[in-house]
Amino acid sequence: MICLVLALFAHVFQPGRGAERTFVAVKPDALQRRLLGDIVRRFERKGFRLVAMKLVQASEDLLSEHYFALRDRPFYNHLVKYMSSGPVVAMVWQGLDVVKTARAMIGETNPADSRPGTIRGDFCIEVGKNVIHGSDSIESARREISLWFREDELICWEDHAEHWIHE
Ligand code: ADP
Repeated sequence: MICLVLALFAHVFQPGRGAERTFVAVKPDALQRRLLGDIVRRFERKGFRLVAMKLVQASEDLLSEHYFALRDRPFYNHLVKYMSSGPVVAMVWQGLDVVKTARAMIGETNPADSRPGTIRGDFCIEVGKNVIHGSDSIESARREISLWFREDELICWEDHAEHWIHE
């Protein structure tokens, strides 16, 4: 009986299929090169829902937390310098399988390995200037969203097109 009640409770309160969220940052080189609109347009046209966006001059503290896992890599100092060299546009996108799909849309870490049609494959050529970041897992997405955004900056709005995009 208790199991049945718990199962019903879990069913009623489970997030919808399209409720997954990911963190995306358009990097300083992309802003300098006026690529922001093209990049945002790709996520919109794919059918994802924008739930947060802001222009941020990232501090070294923020970047050192964001890239904590890479702190011992030889390119780490260069990376922090690059990411703080100008503003970035931080965004949260929501939708079905958005974490995995956004990574596919972004391409490989090294633009030289990224297929044409991906963001890195189309807009850049070098790993040190690869125009965009996207969370690599649902766990990273949760961590990065809470690092870059306060809860009240995430806007829940009704997406009237959602039922045209997935079941
Ligand atoms: P991704 O951004 O594809 O998830 P990583 O998490 O491995 O890739 O690396 C984070 C960022 O560090 C990359 O997007 C890139 O800006 C930078 N980076 C990674 N490898 C190198 C490298 N060999 N030289 C310079 N910068 C690098």
